[in-house]
Amino acid sequence: MSAALSGLNPDLSSIPMDSIPGVGPQILLKLSKLGIRTVEDALYFLPLRYEDRRNIRPLASALPGERGVFRVEVLAKGENVHPRTRKRIFHVLAGDGSGKVDLKWFHYRRPWMEKEFPVGCHLHIFGEIKLFGGVRQIEHPEYEIISKTNSLGDNASSGCNDSDFWGGILPVYPLTEGLSQKMARRIWKKVVEKHASSVSSTIPVEILRRLQLPPLAEAFLEVHFPKTFQKSISSSEMAGDISSGRKSIIFDEFFYLELGLALKKRDISQIPGNAFQVTHLYTKPLAEKLPYRLTTAQRRVLGEIKQDMMASSPMNRLLQGDVGSGKTIVALMAALIAIENNFQVAVLAPTEILAEQHFLQFHRYLDDLGLKAALLTGSIAKREKENILGDLSAGRIHLLVGTHAILEDEVDFPRLGLVVIDEQHRFGVLQRGGLRNKGTHPDTLVMTATPIPRSLFMTAYGDLSLSIIDELPPGRKPVKTMIFPVGHRETAYRMVREELAGGRQAFVVYPLIEESQNSELQAAEKDFILLKNEIFPTFRVGLLHGRLKPAEKEDIMKRFRDHDLDILVATTVIEVGIDIPNATVMMVENADRFGLSQLHQLRGRVGRGRQESVCILIASRSISDDGRKRLQVMKETADGFRIAEADLEIRGPGELLGTRQHGLVDFRVASILKHQEILAIAREEAFQVAGRSDFFTSPELEKTRRTLQRRWGTRLELAAIG
Ligand code: ADP
Ligand code: MG
Repeated sequence: MSAALSGLNPDLSSIPMDSIPGVGPQILLKLSKLGIRTVEDALYFLPLRYEDRRNIRPLASALPGERGVFRVEVLAKGENVHPRTRKRIFHVLAGDGSGKVDLKWFHYRRPWMEKEFPVGCHLHIFGEIKLFGGVRQIEHPEYEIISKTNSLGDNASSGCNDSDFWGGILPVYPLTEGLSQKMARRIWKKVVEKHASSVSSTIPVEILRRLQLPPLAEAFLEVHFPKTFQKSISSSEMAGDISSGRKSIIFDEFFYLELGLALKKRDISQIPGNAFQVTHLYTKPLAEKLPYRLTTAQRRVLGEIKQDMMASSPMNRLLQGDVGSGKTIVALMAALIAIENNFQVAVLAPTEILAEQHFLQFHRYLDDLGLKAALLTGSIAKREKENILGDLSAGRIHLLVGTHAILEDEVDFPRLGLVVIDEQHRFGVLQRGGLRNKGTHPDTLVMTATPIPRSLFMTAYGDLSLSIIDELPPGRKPVKTMIFPVGHRETAYRMVREELAGGRQAFVVYPLIEESQNSELQAAEKDFILLKNEIFPTFRVGLLHGRLKPAEKEDIMKRFRDHDLDILVATTVIEVGIDIPNATVMMVENADRFGLSQLHQLRGRVGRGRQESVCILIASRSISDDGRKRLQVMKETADGFRIAEADLEIRGPGELLGTRQHGLVDFRVASILKHQEILAIAREEAFQVAGRSDFFTSPELEKTRRTLQRRWGTRLELAAIG
């Protein structure tokens, strides 16, 4: 699985670890716990840090905080008991002529220690020097016994040394219990010696040379057993701090990802599409009728979309804008351009409620312009569905809104010109293909409400162009966010009552992770009855959950919209783009159980009218550290970008993208968070290569093509990779 973006040449993923001398069943098991099954796994399993053990140093030269190898003789030893804590400490006093050091152990078996360190015994020790009351100390030093007696063959100065304790820069691997660094170093040494040199880089040499990146063979050698010492390696973000070997491995992973995306993009851009003309036939009357002016960001984005629609290759653009930034009107304008050119438009929404909501918005505007919109979801009656399908194929419907039902084969758009996909925060990347292949090659506009950090966008959506609405319509009031522990729920209820008394409305949301789980649903229903009868007895309370029939859902939504209900108790279905300006309270129960982007979506449901709004987050009793972090982020910022970035940090990119269906962000070493600079360079280079007219034919690129094929496999549905 995670081999997705590695895949070396030659294929080392078929060489098992027990082919390495010294790796028996025991060690094999330990290695597999670390996810290391093959030689390829091992090569990509990089050290956490390094230890500089090149030289044996005199003790006198070692400053506190320094780590080093010393060659010492045992002078004395003994046990000490701490007067207060009663903790036992074993001391070995050792010296090398230049100075002395107090070696300390807190965990030990005394008889064993007595035998291990006879006075006069010579050892190599390694560890961090501390200064304690003017005395040098090392706690739990690593050590190697040279000789238990006084007689010494002096190999320290002979220069030649095959100790795996000192004499080089040693890797420190992130290991598991029962596998020591010592063992690991031996294993990796063999893996690297035997296999690293056979790995060949398949990225065009010219690129590697220009960027001063060593070929992979050299890179793996350098990363596991470096010649020069690097204090820190991967923890800090800047590419400058990363060794060139590590950089090369990361670059290699990013390069092939981006190459695949670039080719996809290129593939799409070579498909003939429709070159629309902007006639203003419908867009102008609409613009004149709007009760507001488009924001600068909306106008800029619309300009970008127009450019794409006028071009002869199909548009493939992601429209990104925070909750409430006004994406719908932009999509509507784009739709009208297609319709002006005598084409039809499909609008695809992730849920029925959202499809209905879109339909209501679109058809209001279209009706005024004498155009016809229709709604097609799974719950539309058969008879009506047939009518719609008939009208659609006769070209009498200009815009069809629906759920995935409109992807079915029987839905025939004779002149599909534009597909608008509202994904909200669900990034169903794979689903995008479906409509693109319907009929002619329509333009595609994907709308998403969760801002994706740019780095992630480049990775996951690198085959799309990006438009960002980075400005909210004027007059929006920021939503005040408050966090309450469960015990203070009464205070929260009081605030809700005050709002309701002022004629406003409130959402109360429960997390139902599994709507199918009866127990959770029952809990929500029980709470609903409690809210209705005891907490808010004088107000009208409705319940909305995913198990209701669509007609029931619609009815409840309508009653809330018409202010026939004061409180809407809901499960997560509410998070999709519901627009009710009079609702000023969003109260979320067990808020820490929601993801950040969900919370952001939920909060975006209020603050849409003229009134001040409040978002009340109730923390559950069993709140986790991550949960606490998330709520704090919500309190600190309303900026969707910051929230998305925090989400990425807390959860990791896989979760954010829903990797299960995605699989693109499984890197071995590369991290789109930490290595953004390398990603940007890899992207540029990859796009350059993909743009070459001889990409599919040049013999010089043959290895590159083959690696691409191996890493992307079937996910790259390209016409031809040689
Ligand atoms: P989202 O980007 O979340 O889909 P919507 O398109 O639903 O946002 O817009 C949110 C609200 O803002 C709607 O009520 C819409 O009518 C309104 N709106 C959109 N653009 C503007 C604007 N330029 N000025 C004022 N209000 C606007
Ligand atoms: Mg919307």
